[in-house]
Amino acid sequence: MYTLHTDPLHRIAYATDASAYREVPLGVAYPENEQDIIYLIQESRQRNTHLIPRAGGTSIAGQVVGSGIVVDISKHFNKILEINKEERWARAQPGVVLDELNLALKPYGLFFSPETSTSNRCCIGGMFGNNSCGLHSLVYGSTRDHVLECRGILCDGSIEVFKTYTIKELEDRFGHRFWEAESNSIIQLIYTQLIRWALDEETVRLIEDNYPDKNLRRRSCGYAIDETIEDLHNASKPLEERTINLCKVLAGSEGTLAFITEIKVDLNPLPPKEKMVICAHCDTLQKSFLGNLVALKFHPSAVELMDRNILELSKQNVEQQKNRFFVQGNPAAILIIELQGETREAIDAVAEQLEKALIENDEHLVYACSRVYGSDIVKVWSLRKAGLGLLTSMKGDAKPIGVIEDTAVIPEKLPAYMADFAKMLDNLGLNCVYHAHISTGELHLRPIINIKEAEGKRKFREVARQTALLVKKYKGSLSGEHGDGRLRGEFIQLMYGNEVYALMKDLKRCWDPLHVFNMHKIVDTLPMDSMLRFDVNQRYAIEKELSEGKTYYNWKAAFDECKIEGATGAKNQLHALMCSIEQCYGAGDCRKSNLIGGTLCPAFKVSGDETHATRARTNVLREILTRGWGSEAFTVAKCETQFATKIATKKSILQSEELADVLDSCLACKGCRSECPSNVDMTRLRSEILQHKYDVSGMPLRSFAVSWMATVERFGHIVWPIYNGFASWNPTSNLIKKIIKFSTERDIPTLSRVTMRKAVKRECRKHHSMTNKGKVYLFADEFTNFQEAELGLNFAKLLLHLGYKVEIPKHAESGRAAISKGNLKLAKKFALKNVNQLKDKVSELTPLVGIEPSCILSFRDEYPDLVPAEIRSQAQHLGCNALLFDEFIVREIAAGRIKPDDFKTDAVEIWLHGHCHQKALVGTEKTVEAFKLLAGAKVHVIPSGCCGMAGSFGYEKEHYQTSLAIGEMVLFPSIRKAIATTDGITPCLVAAPGTSCRQQILDGTGIHAVHPIEILYRWVK
Ligand SMILES: Cc1cc2nc3c(=O)[nH]c(=O)nc-3n(C[C@H](O)[C@H](O)[C@H](O)COP(=O)(O)OP(=O)(O)OC[C@H]3O[C@@H](n4cnc5c(N)ncnc54)[C@H](O)[C@@H]3O)c2cc1C
Ligand code: SF4
Ligand code: SF4
Repeated sequence: MYTLHTDPLHRIAYATDASAYREVPLGVAYPENEQDIIYLIQESRQRNTHLIPRAGGTSIAGQVVGSGIVVDISKHFNKILEINKEERWARAQPGVVLDELNLALKPYGLFFSPETSTSNRCCIGGMFGNNSCGLHSLVYGSTRDHVLECRGILCDGSIEVFKTYTIKELEDRFGHRFWEAESNSIIQLIYTQLIRWALDEETVRLIEDNYPDKNLRRRSCGYAIDETIEDLHNASKPLEERTINLCKVLAGSEGTLAFITEIKVDLNPLPPKEKMVICAHCDTLQKSFLGNLVALKFHPSAVELMDRNILELSKQNVEQQKNRFFVQGNPAAILIIELQGETREAIDAVAEQLEKALIENDEHLVYACSRVYGSDIVKVWSLRKAGLGLLTSMKGDAKPIGVIEDTAVIPEKLPAYMADFAKMLDNLGLNCVYHAHISTGELHLRPIINIKEAEGKRKFREVARQTALLVKKYKGSLSGEHGDGRLRGEFIQLMYGNEVYALMKDLKRCWDPLHVFNMHKIVDTLPMDSMLRFDVNQRYAIEKELSEGKTYYNWKAAFDECKIEGATGAKNQLHALMCSIEQCYGAGDCRKSNLIGGTLCPAFKVSGDETHATRARTNVLREILTRGWGSEAFTVAKCETQFATKIATKKSILQSEELADVLDSCLACKGCRSECPSNVDMTRLRSEILQHKYDVSGMPLRSFAVSWMATVERFGHIVWPIYNGFASWNPTSNLIKKIIKFSTERDIPTLSRVTMRKAVKRECRKHHSMTNKGKVYLFADEFTNFQEAELGLNFAKLLLHLGYKVEIPKHAESGRAAISKGNLKLAKKFALKNVNQLKDKVSELTPLVGIEPSCILSFRDEYPDLVPAEIRSQAQHLGCNALLFDEFIVREIAAGRIKPDDFKTDAVEIWLHGHCHQKALVGTEKTVEAFKLLAGAKVHVIPSGCCGMAGSFGYEKEHYQTSLAIGEMVLFPSIRKAIATTDGITPCLVAAPGTSCRQQILDGTGIHAVHPIEILYRWVK
């Protein structure tokens, strides 16, 4: 039986989707079976509210935002029920994620072809609800074209199977000419209504005259009455043989008609292996619209557009920087044209002609073409798919907003439509970002608007109204794939006329007379500029709590440095902090499961719970820091009166339980720092907020102890045998763990006999090198220095052996633990000390090289924003020359100073698990590159995300199980499998540069992982 969650955490987490809207729902439920949904229907009627079916929650038009009960089916309705290879169909529950379905279908050589950009987290139920499609819609069409059958629950609780029925079959069920009779049965009335419309010439003509151009492939505006009744008024067939499939109207109905519990879809054979994309560079946008028409003549499988703004934004995103390799010069737009074929030669031949047609014409439509083959194609599509997310990373209050982002007209009309559109924007004084599915005439147009200002809000409405008129002029569709939701519903009447709109209202009334399903979407919507995420002239509740708007990080610097046209910057530090939170637009990349890969977001991956996704964290931060206790989440719910009492006794919003909950489940792994397309950096936000919270209510003992750990170890080292005895003898060790709330299953790290600093100093004194390849400053981070001095020593020996001079300069600890625990006052001191001590020493010629990724990368990632603004540029310079061991080695390989000849060629199998901060900021490619020095090494990168330990997270009592569960998702099984399949002759080593990762691997699998440096050291000649 389901629980109705009416607590503020759930209600806030589900108050938004990927749209500009926000409305706090009454509650949230996670039904487990159809009976639960039937109960929920009853409950919603008793409470006089409605149900909002929700899957991945990535809708852009506010489809899953509302005042009712949000019913999240992604948690339990996520099973693939049947795959029929011969007949090419699959039956699945609506919460199955598209990419996961396609992973399961791959061995059968099949796939579900509508390909939304959000494929790694959107669910087929959501795709059905919105009639989604994607970049290959030119070939594969939209979801509506592929749903054969579905099972759903109507507003009266009855279960129905919707599929193709002939009139004869329906008559067998409801009686001869049943549509001429009266009925009380909802399902009979539904069929009756559509049959009556189909058999009425005038209604058919009305629909034909007012729906979009028949040749337009993308049409997700309003209810698809036209396609549903198409065969019913097919006069060439006898009446009883004509068919109707209600899946046609359910597709794109946005959860307003029925609750779907199963979907049967047809499948396509996997596309031919041989593919190529041509990235055609245009120097004006208008040329790209014309170039598209030329490209279409060559039968491409897709043509997509990216404009200059998107390309600019991709420069700022760590993940996408790697995917810009094909860009030549500074194009106004790039057309990505995909060609498919049986052989590369055949595709090349078409490409030759196509490029010629694009470049050698009177208008010079294209100035350069890059051809991309094989696995690099994925990178191009990844950049294109990230487009919408990247847009929201624009810094400041003005954003490329989703308001007219989904218009479609037939491609031939696109140049004229776009010319009119540009004039309209000019008149409104707006700039726009253009991208997406140009081959089908669909462009994602995002004008840059600040809806926090009255004038911006006015333009938000005006641009929508004027665009609707333009689209109508060109017989297009106001929505090509994203649907209407609460954004476009208001304009359906204008687009289709009063009579067709009246039909749509009648349709909704017929299906849902009891007002059970997703009210105020598509028809009877609220004004499109109501219930927006941001209020005009919004104040922040946190303003009252932060003295003089003081923040610990310098949030504003990044805004001042953002050079993107239209970016409005930040007024002060507090504003910059809030804008950094608001950067999350709910696109939901943080809902990827472990099957999809990546790091983001381990907490969600392990629980599948929306409240553990990064999105929920930003939602809660935004809501509480903006609206404070005044949020409806705290005040509206009649059923939760006890909250009012709780709130009254609380002084600060920073003490809110919801804030504590969402920050507590974050591992500070930085997965979001690179993988979130909007650059939400929760690790940093978390530590900032935690420090303010400590300022109000004091720091918990554990956070204090962990952040001062290195100092404790420094003193402990003086009496290291006693320290180690206390740390490892069960009674004392358990007592310590109990006091600081660590899990008794974990071991407290013990200290090395001699510190790394001392050991390296001794070694350097002994060493007399014949060569001098340059000086390297080693960073004796607090973990290696005290706990793993041998590792530090071996690195020094390796460098000395290779002919480098090595020195450990005077420096403070990195402050990593303090940053993770939110002790920013302390972290700032370390950062300042390190920058002052090292800024004049460290340079490109004499870099600072580190062993522990999280420590050395603090120099680059955090220090510039932790030190006073006056020395920010010096900190940045230091950060550029503070290198992780692998970055240094690869740099030296490139300079010819380190060669494979320096290493033995003995065979070794290496299984590499990268540290999550390393993955987020530099990637694991450089470690793999460094291992290429070993001619006999076979390197496998484990497709793991975060190991689950994440500093002290996995040590903490309440997180111990979660930590192991994260390890069990990919990392532990991969290691066990690697060890089990080793041939027993070749050494098989697990490499992990992170100290906590090595501990986690040991605790989870019993296998001792080593730092990559150890392997290089063992293999050096
Ligand atoms: C960055 C970004 C890129 C996008 N790119 C594309 C794109 O390329 N193509 C595209 O088509 N869309 C795109 N979208 C929009 C969105 O991702 C898709 O529409 C997606 O298919 C929605 O799936 P979801 O699982 O998130 O559904 P949700 O947003 O949760 O729901 C979608 C609709 O389906 C209804 N629904 C869900 N489950 C049920 C059910 N069981 N019964 C009845 N109704 C149900 C909901 O009520 C809602 O109206 C994009 C969105 C973002 C943020
Ligand atoms: S945190 Fe990032 S990935 Fe997650 S929803 Fe927000 S913008 Fe998207
Ligand atoms: S830092 Fe890691 S755990 Fe925290 S929100 Fe980002 S991805 Fe999730």
